[in-house]
Amino acid sequence: MPLSSALKKGSQDPYVKTIQQHLLALGYVLPRFGADGALGDETLRAYGEFLVLEKMQAPTDEQPKSISVAGAAAVERAFAALAAVAPVGKFFDERNKHPHDGRSKSQPNMKWKDVKAIVLHQTASQLGEKPERWHSVPIHFGISRLGKTIQLYDLTEVCNHAGAFNRWTIGIEIDGWFSGIDGQPNTLWQPKPPAPKRTPMTLPAAQMDAARACVKLIIDTVAANGGKITHIHPHRQSSKDRQSDPGSLIWQQVGIWAQDEFGLSDGGKTYSIDTGRPIPQAWDPRYTGNKY
Ligand SMILES: [Zn+2]
Repeated sequence: MPLSSALKKGSQDPYVKTIQQHLLALGYVLPRFGADGALGDETLRAYGEFLVLEKMQAPTDEQPKSISVAGAAAVERAFAALAAVAPVGKFFDERNKHPHDGRSKSQPNMKWKDVKAIVLHQTASQLGEKPERWHSVPIHFGISRLGKTIQLYDLTEVCNHAGAFNRWTIGIEIDGWFSGIDGQPNTLWQPKPPAPKRTPMTLPAAQMDAARACVKLIIDTVAANGGKITHIHPHRQSSKDRQSDPGSLIWQQVGIWAQDEFGLSDGGKTYSIDTGRPIPQAWDPRYTGNKY
């Protein structure tokens, strides 16, 4: 049911609850009050983030003071799109649509038998739902907030996504900004001012499901070509500058899930390469004493 006039701050209305439920489904957070039907600062902040992402508001604008008719319609559309793609996901093959600038110059390809592992990343930005926006990202697969899977490179292309891991791994970038440790907003990477301060995102079910399906697709495709994926790693393990990459939420929902589901290894408690950091206890309770 569309909104007929703007909802002002302080409104108590069943429609406010609908908007709150849609924002939660889209991955925005309402940590204190949830979908309570009351239009307060928490909901307006999440709604403001939505407007920025939809390019309906400039990033430097202040928090909106009401939900407009157009804004509510945009939330409804985004939710309808989510509902439409969530059960099946959507696959976009972009491999022939960009110049592959992110491919390694010294070693552009690997053999199937040399492909051993998957590396998980968070974009720490919002690339969004248009596949062409991903063309400059040096990664094999992107997973959008609405659960789209965007393939950018062949599985045997070596691309520059994870430093010393590049020559035997396939990368998956999960779109959004996520705390290094879920529930600890101080571990969220923040851009320099005047960019607005970010609030950590959740992992929508459609995005998680698409990321898991992508892991399975990689394992199956490598196996069909005579190779074997044996490991899954967080980018953090190969770079000290990627402490929060991909963060505990993605690691637990996708990385540890893949270990349980397919018998993959993360290298173990002390494993890291190059300047990377081992997996912390806050991500995996098996690794007692490992610092964030
Ligand atoms: Zn990364």
